[in-house]
Amino acid sequence: MSANQALMQRDLKVLWHPCTQMKDHERLPLIPIKRGEGVWLEDFDGNRYLDAISSWWVNIFGHANPRINAGIHAQLDQLEHVILAGFSHEPAVALAERLVAITPHGLSRCFFSDNGSSGIEVALKMSFHYWQNMNKPKKTKFVTLGNSYHGETLAALAVGDVDLYKSTYKPLLMDVFTAPSPDCFYREAGESEEDYSRRQFDGMKKILAEHHEEICAVIVEPLVQCAGNMRMYHPVYLKLLREACDRYGVHLIADEIAVGFGRTGTLFACEQAGIRPDFMALSKGLTAGYLPLCAVLTTDEIYQAFYDDYDTMRAFLHSHSFTGNPLACAAALATLDIFESDNVIENNKLLADHLGNALERFKDHPHVAEVRQRGMIAAIEMVKDKKTREVYDWKERRGLRVYEHALTRGALLRPLGNVTYFMPPYVITPDQIDFLADVAWEGIQLATKD
Ligand SMILES: *Cc1c(COP(=O)(O)O)cnc(C)c1O
Repeated sequence: MSANQALMQRDLKVLWHPCTQMKDHERLPLIPIKRGEGVWLEDFDGNRYLDAISSWWVNIFGHANPRINAGIHAQLDQLEHVILAGFSHEPAVALAERLVAITPHGLSRCFFSDNGSSGIEVALKMSFHYWQNMNKPKKTKFVTLGNSYHGETLAALAVGDVDLYKSTYKPLLMDVFTAPSPDCFYREAGESEEDYSRRQFDGMKKILAEHHEEICAVIVEPLVQCAGNMRMYHPVYLKLLREACDRYGVHLIADEIAVGFGRTGTLFACEQAGIRPDFMALSKGLTAGYLPLCAVLTTDEIYQAFYDDYDTMRAFLHSHSFTGNPLACAAALATLDIFESDNVIENNKLLADHLGNALERFKDHPHVAEVRQRGMIAAIEMVKDKKTREVYDWKERRGLRVYEHALTRGALLRPLGNVTYFMPPYVITPDQIDFLADVAWEGIQLATKD
């Protein structure tokens, strides 16, 4: 028995894996990883896989990055963790200072939680609680976009709209308003992305105009709905949304958990619309994918609505055991050091151009409906019929065929349904991008041949 197989057998006796029908592993191999270096993951039999999806979108500077390793090592010898209520520590302070400095002007307070979903819960609770403190008790609802995703805990799931994850749990979830998505996949032939995203805003405008008195906040993923099959929209939508939220007295929550830290071509996606949200949630790339951490940034105005004598009961009494964990903060500080000293955003432009060119040929593929890209995210949407955009039956699991082929070639290309996408660490090389494009081409040929 190979070392891989031995570990797989032990694993399947005791582990229950995330987002997985465990029965699939009767057929699909589970791949135990022994070590990582840069874009590469290496299993126990010595096979290597290029991590084209940054291990679920978190890793931005490669595995076992020496600079981030050093930052965590240094912190580990000082202090591994301490309660953040009543006590504080240097990495949390330094990280909050730096996040306030680099996020859109006006976001001046940083609240830490310990993963993306819990950060979304923080933003939702803070927004609701702000309106309670402002004596607006009728404001109890949230607005979300069709096809959105904000995590898996119950409130995060409630403000999401991906049926695959949500529908089973509907009876448990709070009621939300769902506005039509600005997702440009559905624009008319010849219609620009800007025109389509503008047109889709009408639905949002209507909800806000009619219901703003009961609405706390609108929550969006700026520019790319990642878990919703990497669907993309135009920044004009965010601009219109900011204006409408101001007009109607509603908060805007920007969930930049996946798109933050350079993914879409700017440090934060909101920059492309020139807007400042009332809450911005950051995670994933925040620690370069090393440790779980979420930062929720907000304004002084919101902070002040909670600041009062204890017995007014206005305080935000929300906590998680590992809030602001020093090791995670140290990883984030080392990550920000890399952004500061290396020309990451500029270099990514060259890599993104290369990626776009490498995917040109897919546009004419008879089973590709669209190739789309924002910076370091690119996606290829497979369809049964290119003209009518008739989709493949989901039960055929064609995206999975691309994934299986990629594994045999040494690439991790986990799909989203029939969408194959690339969201690589920023330390990928042009040659490695070409390799991934070749592997995806072969995989899509195989997956669509019957
Ligand atoms: C991943 C993700 C989350 C949830 O973060 P977790 O750390 O997985 O809980 C929330 N929002 C968006 C946009 C995400 O991509």
